[in-house]
Amino acid sequence: MKQYYSFEDIPGVKWVQVPEPFISIDQSKCTGCANCVKVCLAGVFKIKDKKAEINSLDRCLECASCLFICESRAINFSWPKHGSGYQSEWG
Ligand code: SF4
Ligand code: SF4
Repeated sequence: MKQYYSFEDIPGVKWVQVPEPFISIDQSKCTGCANCVKVCLAGVFKIKDKKAEINSLDRCLECASCLFICESRAINFSWPKHGSGYQSEWG
């Protein structure tokens, strides 16, 4: 099983809890292709019963790769509101 980083281990980076889920999956559109699982470096997605599900958003880098890789447009994506989510000293 892949090991994923924790923001606590990366200097200058932190995670601020987001009140609302900012990424979700429309199960009716998902084909289970697993492209989102492959592209996401943060391990946000998993496949269960041939559909994508969210593991956890707490390592999301807000790169939007999942949004662009999903050909079925099954991923509803938004960025966390200012001051929450991925924060770094470098902007
Ligand atoms: S990339 Fe889209 S269609 Fe493919 S598994 Fe992920 S959410 Fe489903
Ligand atoms: S925005 Fe990037 S890090 Fe976040 S879930 Fe999508 S692919 Fe993963």
